[in-house]
Amino acid sequence: MKAVCWHGANDMRVETVPDPTLLNPQDAILKITSTAICGSDLHIYDGYIPTMQPGDIMGHEFMGEVVEVGSEVKKLQKGDRVVVPFPISCGHCFFCQRDLWSLCDNSNPKGWLTEKLYGHTPAGIYGYSHLMGGYAGGQAEYVRVPFADVGPVKVPDGLTDEQVLFLSDILPTGYMAAENCNIQPGDTVAIWGCGPVGQFAIKSAFLLGAERVIAIDRVPERLEMARKDAGAEIINFEEVDAGEALKEMTGGRGPDACIDAVGLEAHGMNVEGLYDKVKQTVRLETDRPHVLRQAIVACRKGGTVSLAGVYGGFTDKIPMGAAFNKGLTLKMGQTHVHRYLRPLLDRIQKGDLDPSFVITHRLPLEDAPRAYDIFKNKEENCIKVVLKPGT
Ligand code: NAD
Ligand code: ZN
Repeated sequence: MKAVCWHGANDMRVETVPDPTLLNPQDAILKITSTAICGSDLHIYDGYIPTMQPGDIMGHEFMGEVVEVGSEVKKLQKGDRVVVPFPISCGHCFFCQRDLWSLCDNSNPKGWLTEKLYGHTPAGIYGYSHLMGGYAGGQAEYVRVPFADVGPVKVPDGLTDEQVLFLSDILPTGYMAAENCNIQPGDTVAIWGCGPVGQFAIKSAFLLGAERVIAIDRVPERLEMARKDAGAEIINFEEVDAGEALKEMTGGRGPDACIDAVGLEAHGMNVEGLYDKVKQTVRLETDRPHVLRQAIVACRKGGTVSLAGVYGGFTDKIPMGAAFNKGLTLKMGQTHVHRYLRPLLDRIQKGDLDPSFVITHRLPLEDAPRAYDIFKNKEENCIKVVLKPGT
């Protein structure tokens, strides 16, 4: 089959690789119909994520048709059309039982590495390095789905791929970031980053009752989408100081909650020397966690700072004094997609929400290298790319 393979920073290639096979009786094999490139893939593309190996298959946002199921799979059949959460979860461990799906104890067999780095083992993630289990991703013609009775959700007839694809990750991610803000009627929420995750965080903040959402970015078409499609007030941080502008727009008090939907783009990490098998050196720019620092400083006393943006390794120069003395709540983490997938699917079906508005590019799988390039560099007004294998 054809698959998008990582070969180093800024080096994605579409290659012919062996088809996936069932490795476990609880596995299913999917034929991918749509798969997206995520801002999280850019951290890999940028070379920030250690333990990628040349040839690793990318992609954790995908959906498709079941073509094969293992002998213990009960809920899925050949021919079912499903969307798949990006965390791989067993469904029965301590964490899955507590609705903490992205912290599953049984899906990251290489967890010894994260154990060493972080003191714990998060769930496996498709196409997201050997830190996250080394699973082949879904930017491919086919993918193996472990715990097939737990993650995949059947798509009701009448909904297009574009309406449901983002249930795999970025819609629940934007939603969880907003839910973590404990929004009360009348609240103002500030959101850094108007990428796809930021757009869904804006929509979700309004769905959860925010009165005002203020979105911050520098890319004009992303700010315009935040204003026009998602309904936010906007700040271009290249034109004005975002912190000052937020103060002014909130009568000096600051937003009730602040969401960081940027993450690693704003800083780097360094794991060199911490574990000698980690060969990649990742940039260390500890004085540049702009967004997180700004969010903590801007947030009103007693407010919440919610991180959707991905962080890894070590970050310092975080104004903990401000966070502590203002009594802030900090919330963060990989999204518990399983928790949100069905309720958000219901909202899409009811017509409350159509996530397809973020898609600017629909391309064949073969165009993935160019797609990564334009998505990363915000060229051709690119906001979200959907790759269509077999077209
Ligand atoms: P993206 O790269 O398309 O969007 C990031 C946006 O942030 C860009 O529009 C960029 O211009 C803007 N930005 C950069 N610096 C900024 C600054 N200083 N102030 C304001 N805006 C700034 O990515 P995306 O797909 O929207 O993803 C956003 C983040 O969410 C990434 O870090 C991604 O890894 C993360 N993510 C997390 C989860 C999760 O489970 N928590 C899931 C998916 C994505
Ligand atoms: Zn993603």
